[in-house]
Amino acid sequence: MAYEKYEPVIGLEVHVQLQTNAKIFSPDATAFGAAPNTQVDPISLGHPGTLPVLNETVVTYALRLGVATHCSIADRSAFARKHYFYPDLPKGYQISQYDTPICYDGYVEIFPGEDADAPPSSPDSRRIGLTRIHMEEDAGKSIHDPSGGTTQLDYNRCGVPLLEMVTEPDLRSPREAYLFLQRLRQLVRYLGISDGNMEEGSLRCDANVSVRPRGREAFGTRTELKNMNSMRHVEQALDYEIARQIAAEERGASITQQTLLWDADAGTTRPMRSKEEAHDYRYLPDPDLVEVEVEDAMVEEVREGLPELPRARRQRFVEEVGLPEYDAGVLTEERAVADYFEEALRHLYKRTKGGDTDAQAKAVSNFIMTEVMRVLNERDLAVDELAVGPERLAQLVFLRLEDKVSSNGAQEVFEAMLAEPDKSAGRIADERDLIQVTDRGAIAPVVKDVLDDNPNKVTTYLEGKDGLFGFFIGQVMQRFDGSPDPELVRSLLQEALDARRDPANVDE
Ligand code: ADP
Ligand code: MG
Repeated sequence: MAYEKYEPVIGLEVHVQLQTNAKIFSPDATAFGAAPNTQVDPISLGHPGTLPVLNETVVTYALRLGVATHCSIADRSAFARKHYFYPDLPKGYQISQYDTPICYDGYVEIFPGEDADAPPSSPDSRRIGLTRIHMEEDAGKSIHDPSGGTTQLDYNRCGVPLLEMVTEPDLRSPREAYLFLQRLRQLVRYLGISDGNMEEGSLRCDANVSVRPRGREAFGTRTELKNMNSMRHVEQALDYEIARQIAAEERGASITQQTLLWDADAGTTRPMRSKEEAHDYRYLPDPDLVEVEVEDAMVEEVREGLPELPRARRQRFVEEVGLPEYDAGVLTEERAVADYFEEALRHLYKRTKGGDTDAQAKAVSNFIMTEVMRVLNERDLAVDELAVGPERLAQLVFLRLEDKVSSNGAQEVFEAMLAEPDKSAGRIADERDLIQVTDRGAIAPVVKDVLDDNPNKVTTYLEGKDGLFGFFIGQVMQRFDGSPDPELVRSLLQEALDARRDPANVDE
């Protein structure tokens, strides 16, 4: 959507659910999808007399995200109680952070110029400011009976660790908000701190949005959008809300600051709660928890332990591995796929021992971007669940590079490898007679036999019935145990037939 007279202004509040084996202040489990109320202990239920104890992993994960997003790290950072009443919050308050978030003043870089769906004039890259990242506990889940009447409560999620990230109002279009979330999801997956799955609620996003006439500096009144459970929904909800705000501006109506719920089925927003009830959380420092002191050495340790991040890895794939930009982008989209690629390439290099390494990398890349990704999509698998691991993939790519199998043959071997996880690519190719015969000396006599056995057809062919060429090829292929290189059969056959045009050459 193009916005000619008005400019959208968007800021996001994102909750990242952390993958930890315990809750933020208690040792109970946090697995997704467990039976209701089976992962609760007295601390997460807020029973009197229980004491929260901070899970150190949560601090480490917060630092990972903070360092990766160029934040400053607070040397002292406190927890605060945020009070509100809701049945899924048994303590009557949520433990969060208030005026001393652990990380602040960072940025996430997005790349609208590389996005096919961004407007053509988009800048190559933009830095989206981060106001803060803080640690907090999640609340439970209320499950409302859609037919009305009852509500059921599942407290498993109480105390599950979250990082809340608040951006500056730096985003300028719904597409940029989408790109931001995509980058953030990629980042938390690379960092190994969250699965970043929006559909399962591991990444949740509220969007604040306003519009202003282009050229005006002051922001307009904003609304807050909630209830979007995919990145696509965030983009759609913002598109809808921006159009609504622009229409209101055009009619001279004022915009009410309010929270709106996105209704994905209807494709519209509706008001959630009025301003009167809004935020009076009576924050107070949590007296049960000591301040978190982060020493520089701890930050350094986290910095050194960070994995290579997507952009750096992508650049290395281009500059050192020799891949085209496009391939490097696709392969580094997910860390596990990039790992799989590098592992396969390492195994391939062991076999090739030199040669054109760029071409070898490209061959592995081609195989992953086509066959591997197709199978992952079709079977809804993660790359580390694939029956063809990196080493076996390298065996197959090697067979292909050596021309031991044709490209069709390679596809067939790959399919078979999925079903036979214990066999090497070479063994499967052999068992299925897919090893190409590329030896002229082996093919030429068979070509001669076929022509000798079919003198009438040869005559008809030489009189001009070109269609018989296919028949001869079929005959040659049939007489082989293995699978002769079709190009070679073609050219040897052509030579032999041409020779028979001139009777003097026969049986030379
Ligand atoms: P609150 O105190 O209600 O949480 P904040 O000032 O923390 O409000 O801002 C919440 C989010 O709203 C931030 O992501 C911020 O960037 C964004 N935001 C603030 N003002 C505007 C505005 N006028 N238009 C769009 N987004 C805004
Ligand atoms: Mg806020």
